[in-house]
Amino acid sequence: METVQATGNRTSKGILGLITDDQGRCIHYNSVLDIVANRCSVCKKLYSCYKCHNELEDHPFGAVSETEPDSVMCGVCGSLYSYKAYSSLTSCRTCGSSFNPRCALHRQCYAKNTAASS
Ligand SMILES: [Zn+2]
Ligand SMILES: [Zn+2]
Ligand SMILES: [Zn+2]
Repeated sequence: METVQATGNRTSKGILGLITDDQGRCIHYNSVLDIVANRCSVCKKLYSCYKCHNELEDHPFGAVSETEPDSVMCGVCGSLYSYKAYSSLTSCRTCGSSFNPRCALHRQCYAKNTAASS
């Protein structure tokens, strides 16, 4: 089976993915609230979503530590947060844009809880 090589693009803030606008929305997630990009712990690139990442990179999206700084970017203003800080917010501290509360459903894709006891 032939693989179609998807081609990505990037926003002016540097978010990579199959981007559909300059605030970081992509072909997978493009509601008004989908403005957040996540960093992969493997390639350290900021992607619009893990699906975009997995289509454009040769490795699966690597979850970051929740406390790793600069792991989540607001696609509107470019502010960076740790996943932990981001998950405690409902809107961007800098520009006030609302974040998508449903992102929490994908938490395990993007971040690992390093505080968990083993
Ligand atoms: Zn990666
Ligand atoms: Zn996507
Ligand atoms: Zn912002």
